[in-house]
Amino acid sequence: MALLDIRNLSIDIITAQGKIRVIDKANLNIIDGSIHGLVGESGSGKSLIAKAILGLHNENWIVTADRMFLGNIDLSKLSSRARRKIMGTEIAIIFQNPRSYLDPSKKIFDQIREVLPKKSHHKRFFSKVVPKLRASEQQIIKELLHKVGVQNDQAVVQSYPYELSEGICQKVMIAMAIANNPRLLIADEPTTSMEAVTQAQIFRLLYKLNQLHNMTILLLSNNFGSISNLSDYISLIYCGQIVESGSYKQIVNSPMHPYTQAMIKTIIEFDDGVDHKGQLYTLPGSIPPANQLPIGCRLGPRCPKAQRTCVSNPEAVNYKGHIIRCHFPQLDDKKDANTPHNK
Ligand code: SF4
Repeated sequence: MALLDIRNLSIDIITAQGKIRVIDKANLNIIDGSIHGLVGESGSGKSLIAKAILGLHNENWIVTADRMFLGNIDLSKLSSRARRKIMGTEIAIIFQNPRSYLDPSKKIFDQIREVLPKKSHHKRFFSKVVPKLRASEQQIIKELLHKVGVQNDQAVVQSYPYELSEGICQKVMIAMAIANNPRLLIADEPTTSMEAVTQAQIFRLLYKLNQLHNMTILLLSNNFGSISNLSDYISLIYCGQIVESGSYKQIVNSPMHPYTQAMIKTIIEFDDGVDHKGQLYTLPGSIPPANQLPIGCRLGPRCPKAQRTCVSNPEAVNYKGHIIRCHFPQLDDKKDANTPHNK
């Protein structure tokens, strides 16, 4: 069953040069209890979609959607104030650069205490661990930090954000995000600029939250390789359009859109041995600015399979739940069949 059902979400931004469409008829169907990866290069519009879901858009944005439901809550009908109310209790978000979202002048203890739920929520979330409503704030904060893998909680709660590593700050952000046991956690490039070991820890933590607490996660990333194995479903976004979407198996074993195929080729397989002078694969060119989009298919100028027909914009077509927006969807000849899901 879909927890988040978005159909034909479009975002137009009013600028001095006129109205610019930055998200074009995006569909997202996030199944309850799943991890859904949303992958695209920087500037493709992932964070804009997250902000539209949360109602964090600016006054110069025009957000329209045929349907935008979280469970049975119609998000499009909520006022900004009502939308803010469900943030934290129903939906929570964590960002890249976590330290910049923490208050530098307050200790971690005070920052987590500010987001702790009301007592009725305590009961729902902590009743298994803490009998009835007797849990003290210290105990709840300690449990939250242990839940996200922070062992030296005493030292961490007495610290200011600048005294902690980026990885610990992200774990604190995750602890704050899950304090109200939200139904949907949006992780917006949560491991950007972190070292490899910390990245692995954060992804492992998100995976555990999904498996042990049945938390639905929308994972945004520009790195297909780092999140694909965690994801049950994957959507690829390019220049504000979802170009391919489906289950892990459909996307990784049978990618049919040239953009997805290019993203998969960028994954470095160290097991196969990497020639120290070898060229790593990249899609030629770069993502165009939103006010200079090409005519027709937006990938056209960079697409290795572009043909004359591609000067017209392709519509999204649904092949048994595998959605592709391309005039010439086809399996990549060089693709190895059936990559196992390591989740
Ligand atoms: S429609 Fe044409 S240009 Fe666009 S992705 Fe498909 S083949 Fe490439």
